[in-house]
Amino acid sequence: MSKEQFFDIGVNLTHPSFVKDLDNVIEEAIDVGVTRMCVTGSDLEESISAYQLALSLSDILISTAGIHPHQAKEFSSNYFSEIKDLLKKENVKAIGETGLDFYRNFSTEEEQKKSFEAHIEASIELQQPLFLHVRDAHKTFMEMLKPVKEKLPATVVHCFTGTKEELSEYIEMGFYIGITGWICDERRGTHLKDLINLIPLDKIMIETDAPYLIPRVSKLKNSQRNEPKFLPLIANEVVKSSKAGKKLIISSILLNSLRFFGLD
Ligand SMILES: [Zn+2]
Repeated sequence: MSKEQFFDIGVNLTHPSFVKDLDNVIEEAIDVGVTRMCVTGSDLEESISAYQLALSLSDILISTAGIHPHQAKEFSSNYFSEIKDLLKKENVKAIGETGLDFYRNFSTEEEQKKSFEAHIEASIELQQPLFLHVRDAHKTFMEMLKPVKEKLPATVVHCFTGTKEELSEYIEMGFYIGITGWICDERRGTHLKDLINLIPLDKIMIETDAPYLIPRVSKLKNSQRNEPKFLPLIANEVVKSSKAGKKLIISSILLNSLRFFGLD
């Protein structure tokens, strides 16, 4: 067992697949050094569950509150004011997931933009960190964020899988970058490995996005679920790709996560 400590900045512990054995999932994560986790909310109901869960294990878990771009069609000012109420709670440390996903378009582009805009405004008003999701929408995403660059609180592009050019723009904006198990995938993660050294050492963070995105090195089947206990596998891939020494990169990732969520 390693003495290293890890912070999983994005884990969907309110997902139905964790209902039966959640205590065990958390215990096994802690056993391998994943001692902090951020439970993400993707709509009001889930954000409430994430908050309640985080509150019950407040020295290990924190949560986010927000409306995922897939769920943006749920957005209304009443609905969003309940999200904002949640953001004032002790253990709710970031606003999101929010952002734009024009790949799946489960909500229309207009619905997504409206919801995202409200989240951006709230993050500025409350100075709460922004937890962002973007897929196939980079141009519009940047058009919405650039004008408010100076006012934005700490911001992370979670599950980064974009191009070198996109990464450069996020870095230029001062954004944090969340790396998932994509990096463990020899079929699609190679380009990510090449980009690791472009991310400033004070901006890189890691996440499992469990139960999704099974890291291929875990040898799990796609029908199985990802878990926060696999975060060290992702850390290991980052270490292998990074020119910084292991100790430095691992401790930077942890410190960045604590700083990002205002826990330092
Ligand atoms: Zn996401």
